[in-house]
Amino acid sequence: MKTCIAVVLLLFGGICFAQNAPHAGRQTGEAYPESEAAAAWRALAAGYVRKALKDQRLDQDRSLNARVDAVMAAVGAAVAAIDPRYSNSTWKAILIEDFGYGAAAFPGETILVDASFVRKLQVNDDELALILSHEAAHLVAGHAAAKLSFMAEFLGKKKLPTARTALLEFLAKDDYAAAYRPTARLQEREADRIGAGIFFAAGYDGQVALRVFDKLALLEGGETERDPGWHDLATARKQAVSEALAELQRFHAGRQRTPQ
Ligand SMILES: [Zn+2]
Repeated sequence: MKTCIAVVLLLFGGICFAQNAPHAGRQTGEAYPESEAAAAWRALAAGYVRKALKDQRLDQDRSLNARVDAVMAAVGAAVAAIDPRYSNSTWKAILIEDFGYGAAAFPGETILVDASFVRKLQVNDDELALILSHEAAHLVAGHAAAKLSFMAEFLGKKKLPTARTALLEFLAKDDYAAAYRPTARLQEREADRIGAGIFFAAGYDGQVALRVFDKLALLEGGETERDPGWHDLATARKQAVSEALAELQRFHAGRQRTPQ
């Protein structure tokens, strides 16, 4: 529990949020009510799962599913220990063949994971924990709702009266993703940072997990200038997450030395 308290202090004590605050609207009021925004995203996730079921792309590998369930449970417990809003949540990670994204998190504590990506990278449990922690961090930070608020601001709420219309419009044109990109980059950095805190609280091996960025770097083709999209290049992400984990370790060690 002391570990968790230390993580809470680090995460919410300004180190993370003060550097990148793209989610600032979370407390001050998003464009749509939280429940409405969450419902729109949940419906999208359900749509992906239904489509995968229909196309028989829900992964059937029992041992891989069991591994993902176990790691998701540990990461979910870490989130619950850090953020009381999630104290009664049940997290689900669903493996879909050729999902198209490595992994994506949706309100309703649902993370869709590309099974082909997991196999291709031969992801071990520590790496999986880091990936799921990053995804959970997107939810903790309210990034899904922020995306819809961006749309409401970009096109006006008259054109997008509901969260659902904002989400459908966002998905309809690549132009919106391009306009959203600067915010998305900050969100990705924030998710790496908060994700490091969740990962740390979950108790997995950081040194092992960080190697996932070497695997991602290979996928990037070893180029250093290529634009990887919303994320920073894997080498930069590795450095940032490594520093965040070291900071947490130092902070935790310092607290252990302090008489209670
Ligand atoms: Zn992300």
